Amino acid sequence: MDILFPSRCVGCGRRGIDICELCLATVQPLGPASCPRCGHPTRLGSVCQACLRREGYLSGIRSACAYDGVARKAIHAFKYRHRPTLAEPLATMVVLELQRRPLHVDILVPVPLHHRRLAERGYNQSTLLAKRLGETLGITVVECLERTRMTVAQARLKATQRRGNVRDAFRCIDNALVEGLRVAVVDDVCTTGATLEDCARALKEAGCASAWGVVVARDL
Ligand SMILES: [Zn+2]
Ligand SMILES: [Zn+2]
Repeated sequence: MDILFPSRCVGCGRRGIDICELCLATVQPLGPASCPRCGHPTRLGSVCQACLRREGYLSGIRSACAYDGVARKAIHAFKYRHRPTLAEPLATMVVLELQRRPLHVDILVPVPLHHRRLAERGYNQSTLLAKRLGETLGITVVECLERTRMTVAQARLKATQRRGNVRDAFRCIDNALVEGLRVAVVDDVCTTGATLEDCARALKEAGCASAWGVVVARDL
């Protein structure tokens, strides 16, 4: 496979590497001036208005960076150009964020793909990310969510449509796997937060103690 499709840096095209060091260095963390719950930029790092109003299921969302530049290119290639090895550098970005702002959770739960999309892609990008994170951080990965219906690709919908699109799209396959535990739901990217919120709803209904969202990139 490497001869047919030699890996190239998603940023600059350099051969033999998924993301080169120079391109990786352009990925900037969201910084302290952002909402501690959702990552949205706020003055002085206070909780944003949306989070103050929201009574959601998520305790908050941690994101390594904004969804632009090299991170956006890497995530796109990771999902749509069959580059599963990008899980490693992308997970490393998340580990760095969790070292900056530690999160105390018991298990990592990847956002599941519908089985039809899983068959098309050959892997669930969120599972690959969660496994790399789990190995590095020493946290167990539990694939306890399933997608109960196929949803339209979020990127093709307006924000209002997106929320309805993912509502009640997930369920926990076995409550005993999450009861009383602090859970982090892992995904590659967060756009409106609706997917993470619906996963958190399913996990809370199954009895988890708390649910955080952990993503590589946040669409701001
Ligand atoms: Zn590069
Ligand atoms: Zn917020």
